Amino acid sequence: MKKGLLLTPGPSKVPVELCEVLGKPIIHHRTPQFQQILKELTEGLKKIINTSSEVYLLASSGTGAMEAAVANLASPGDKVITVEYGKFGERWASLAKAYKLNAVTLKIEWGRTITPEEVKAALVAHPDAKVIFLTQCETSTSATPDMAGIGAVVKDTPTALVVDAVSALGTEPMKMDEWGVDVVCSGSHKGLMLPPGVGIVAASAKAIAMIESSTNIRFYFDLRKSRKALADTDTPFTPAINIIIALNEAVKMLLAEGLDKKQEYYLKMAKAVWAGVEAIGLSVYAQPKYRSRGLTAILIPEALNPKKLVKTMRDVHGITMAGGQGDLDGKIVRIAHMGAVDEYDILTGLSCLEKVLKEAGHKFELGASLAAAQKVLNS
Ligand SMILES: *Cc1c(COP(=O)(O)O)cnc(C)c1O
Repeated sequence: MKKGLLLTPGPSKVPVELCEVLGKPIIHHRTPQFQQILKELTEGLKKIINTSSEVYLLASSGTGAMEAAVANLASPGDKVITVEYGKFGERWASLAKAYKLNAVTLKIEWGRTITPEEVKAALVAHPDAKVIFLTQCETSTSATPDMAGIGAVVKDTPTALVVDAVSALGTEPMKMDEWGVDVVCSGSHKGLMLPPGVGIVAASAKAIAMIESSTNIRFYFDLRKSRKALADTDTPFTPAINIIIALNEAVKMLLAEGLDKKQEYYLKMAKAVWAGVEAIGLSVYAQPKYRSRGLTAILIPEALNPKKLVKTMRDVHGITMAGGQGDLDGKIVRIAHMGAVDEYDILTGLSCLEKVLKEAGHKFELGASLAAAQKVLNS
C-alpha cells in the first residue's frame, strides 16, 4: 500500500474523522435535521470569515463561487478591474469577458501581489469601476497580498472589493467586515479540508445592493434565490448534502482549535518549509513579503525536471504535490500546508522531495531540509 498523502493545494488532505462523516447514509435536505446543520454551518462560516452579513452555499467548486460573484455584482458593459498575479487572477478576467463586462486588467509580475498603493492608484484612474476582483492566496505562485491594507483603500469608495479566497479561507486570516471586503468566494476542498462540492459566497450590504440591482442573466447561480432561501434556512436547489454535513464538522473543528492558533500553526509550517527548501539549495518562488501560510511554491532548476519529480513522488512513493501552472509549468513544485496537513505530513513530504532530488542528481546533504524544518517547528 502506498502512502496516499495529499499535499496538493486543493483538494487537500481530508482528516479521518471527516471521512467517517462523509461516508454516513444521506439524509433529506428539506428536513429540520438538515436545516439545523445549515444554520450551524452558516453561523460557523461567518466566524471564519468574520462577518455578520450573509453567507450563501452553492453546489459547485470554487470557480462556481467566483462566477456567482461576477454574474451577480455587475451587468453587461459595466467597468470592472481584474487583478492578475498568477493563474487564478487570470480567471477573473476570463469570467468578466464571458459576462461581457468592460474589464480593465492589471497585470502584476508573478511572485508578488498588488499593493494597497497600486489598488489606490487603480481606483483613482477608474473611479467608475463597479468592482475590483483579486485573489487572496494566489495558489499558482503561493503569494498573498496585504488584504487589510487593500480593504482600507477600497472601503470608502463606490467600488466593491471581491476576493477569491478559495485556497485562503481557514488558512489566512479574513476579517471581512473590519477590512471592508464586499464578497468572499471560497470552496470546501482547500483550507476547509473536504472534497470539492460546496462553493461559498459571503456578501456585504454593499454587495447585496448590487446583487439586487444587477440586470445580468442568471439562473443556477442567482444569488437573489440564495438570499431568499437563506431567509428560510434553505438552499434554492439540492445542496451537496453530505459535504455540507461534513463541512459543518470541519468548521467546528477549526473553531474548537481556535482559528488564530491554527493560523499561527500554518505560518509555522510555512516557515519550516521555507527553511527546509533553502537548506537544500533551492528557493521559495514567492517574494518574502508576500508568502502565504497555506502553500509554498518551490523554484526548482529545470534541469532537475520538476514535472518528473512530482510524477515520481506521486506514482512511486504515493505522495502527491502539485507542479506549476501557466508560465510556471515545469519550473516549480508546490506543497500545501493548509487544512488538515500537519508538521509530520510536511516532514514526510520534504523527505520524499529530498529522495527524488537526490535521484535527479541535485547536490545537497541528505536530511538537511528536515533538520532545518525541525528547527523551525520546534522553536
Ligand atoms: C482552487 C482555486 C480556485 C477554484 O478552482 P476550482 O477548481 O473551481 O475549485 C480558484 N481560485 C484559487 C486561488 C484556487 O486556489
